Amino acid sequence: MPVTLPQLTRREFLKRAALAGLGMGLVELVPPKSQAGLFGKSRDKNTFAFFSDTHIAADATLKHSNVNMADNLAACVRELAAWPVKPAAVIVNGDLAFQSGRPGDYATFGKWIEPVRALAPVHLSLGNHDERENFWQAFPHDATRQSSTLHRQATVFSSDRANWFLLDSLDATDTAPGEFGTAQLDWLARELTARPDKPAILVGHHNLQAPDGTTGLKDSAAFEELFARHRQVKAFIFGHTHNWHVEQHASGVLLVNLPPTGYVFKEGRPSGWVRATLARDGAEFELRSLDPQHPEHAQIKRLKWSED
Ligand SMILES: [Zn+2]
Repeated sequence: MPVTLPQLTRREFLKRAALAGLGMGLVELVPPKSQAGLFGKSRDKNTFAFFSDTHIAADATLKHSNVNMADNLAACVRELAAWPVKPAAVIVNGDLAFQSGRPGDYATFGKWIEPVRALAPVHLSLGNHDERENFWQAFPHDATRQSSTLHRQATVFSSDRANWFLLDSLDATDTAPGEFGTAQLDWLARELTARPDKPAILVGHHNLQAPDGTTGLKDSAAFEELFARHRQVKAFIFGHTHNWHVEQHASGVLLVNLPPTGYVFKEGRPSGWVRATLARDGAEFELRSLDPQHPEHAQIKRLKWSED
């Protein structure tokens, strides 16, 4: 059961904002005189925005590791709202909630992500600090539900230059390792087989697990064998480690580790969001650090897809 928040029209947005009495919304982020420009600006169909590990608590004033996570998300949203073009889609890649996916966490997350809905559809995936049932209950009216027996937050959507596969690696809430599970991997294999021609980009919360690892995907070996076998898979995008990093898997698949929007695990690493723009034969990924002085801020990684 995937949850995609459809893009809102200006009228819908303002109506919802008025009804909900949002604590933070587009009006606060973008002055009223600039709003027409926001809604009117053009869309770049090849550009995507990624947020990950937002860790929003019910109490928006909560700090963890000396970071106010709600303030961080607001700053990222503000920058995206001011971006010269609208992205094709926004993906929030898991650990939406602070720690254990309580209903109040999703209520606050929903308010904070609301302005993004004026820009583009928003796809939400789940991490180990989310709780699936609470999450689904928090977005009942916005959910675009496809019939599925997976009972996971997984979906496929298509863009001009790639097919995107959003996967759900939440195994047990507030327990570090993740798992896709056999049913979801079988589903992924079928969906990939049905779409052989366009580059495929896989998105999931957890990292691949090193042989001695304890926090990544428990079924990493099966997942890696699967994506190596389907040669149209070009990239796997994930979060979880709170450590912005790009490397290449032995199969040629590019591994893109998103930075956290919330707090970092290791001092000195960047937090923020990532802009990805697809070309025909690859993509560029740009870190948008919340600290513009960070040495990796605005660095663009130009990635070339492996040969089929
Ligand atoms: Zn996290």
